Amino acid sequence: MKTDLNRCKRCGQCMSVCPVYQTTFREADVARGKLALLESIEAGTIRWSGRLEEIVSRCLLCGACAQICASRVETTLMIQSGRQRLFEVKKGGKSRNALLRSMREGHLTAKVLLKGGALLQALVCKKIPETSGLHLRFPLSFFTERSTVPPIAWTPFLDAFRPRAVVNGEGPRIGFFVGCGANYLFPDMAWALVHILGYVGASLIVPEDQVCCGLPAYVSGDTKTARELAQKNIEVFESLELDAILTVCASCGSHLKALASLFADHPSSRDAAASIAQKHMDAMTFLVDHLGFDVHLKAVEPAGSPEGTSPLRVAYHDPCHLRIGQGITRAPRRLLEAVPGVQLVEAPHPGQCCGHGGDFNLSHFPLSMKILDRRMEDFEKVKPDTIVTGCTGCLLQFAEGISRRGLSGKIEVCHPLVLVEKAIAPCPIPTQRRKDLPVFQALHTDAGQ
Ligand code: SF4
Ligand code: SF4
Repeated sequence: MKTDLNRCKRCGQCMSVCPVYQTTFREADVARGKLALLESIEAGTIRWSGRLEEIVSRCLLCGACAQICASRVETTLMIQSGRQRLFEVKKGGKSRNALLRSMREGHLTAKVLLKGGALLQALVCKKIPETSGLHLRFPLSFFTERSTVPPIAWTPFLDAFRPRAVVNGEGPRIGFFVGCGANYLFPDMAWALVHILGYVGASLIVPEDQVCCGLPAYVSGDTKTARELAQKNIEVFESLELDAILTVCASCGSHLKALASLFADHPSSRDAAASIAQKHMDAMTFLVDHLGFDVHLKAVEPAGSPEGTSPLRVAYHDPCHLRIGQGITRAPRRLLEAVPGVQLVEAPHPGQCCGHGGDFNLSHFPLSMKILDRRMEDFEKVKPDTIVTGCTGCLLQFAEGISRRGLSGKIEVCHPLVLVEKAIAPCPIPTQRRKDLPVFQALHTDAGQ
């Protein structure tokens, strides 16, 4: 870490892309400032304090600074290492049981219960397991500050989806890593993938004992829990002889993609983690680059939109975990452009962060909302009917932005796959490979994004 910290030339290039700095214009909020402080801690000239904790937490871990840095400083890794060190110094930091602890301490009010509705109840009743990242993502502050809370799926996707595996003889064996957001909050995006893969007749395996990807624990500095969760997922997926492991949430996907780095000092687990990472693919990239599904989609008759109706104006938001974390910007747009009855419109400043950033949205809610406001202004300029994005964090953030600006009922928000699913006749689980679709392309090529 020390060497990497020293690599920062203090050139300030990262200032031009940091969403937090561009909102506050505080040196401590940009990567350069944070790295300088971490270097001082490393050198022993300053010690951890509440103020330093605050500074290290004021980062979305969006990766924009690492992407632009000419000196190739792994800024997000450095900031993450700082959080891990802090977590260790504090001997556990924010516990996974923060919500339950708060309840015991009497902070839970009827208003919060009412506002939190089913999600809070599900968290409290342990309907959502403690290992789920949702416990970290949704502490009490989430329910008190927001104007919207996500509805919980009373039957999570993983409980509802049976038979778990649909295996056809032809084509690759596709595993589906669902993730907590798609499982509990937005099961429609998980069902959309199931229906689309059913439509194309792919073999689909959805192991029921998969757990949270571990990203919420990781970004909070709890590397031990993140590793435990990753180990469990590795065990679950590595025995299945899959050709690809798809995700629908960009956050889970970017974490799986970088899984080997979590085991840099654990050679025995590193190879298995690297194998999972190598098989991982965002579902939209799989459909476009390996199946050519966008070409097929263009020829599909729009479902449920009579002739003469105006096209649905759809604006796509690039999640940082997809654009920077996985280098994917083209596949979602190609997919959306191909959906019959959809007009894809591009909002100004594509690639701008929405301000969610995992627990940043919780610990720095007002700042997160300021960053969101800028993004919402971009979208309002193109007057979309629907904002689409491929990350559960961004979906939550835009639902909040729409509500705060009085646009509920005027602008919808959903995952791109939900629009794709609507365009094809929903096909629960056919067992025949469709002959009118292109053959599956080789997996793990370096197809463009
Ligand atoms: S992190 Fe990179 S871009 Fe930012 S000041 Fe340091 S060297 Fe420059
Ligand atoms: S990761 Fe994003 S929010 Fe954090 S310092 Fe870098 S650019 Fe700023």
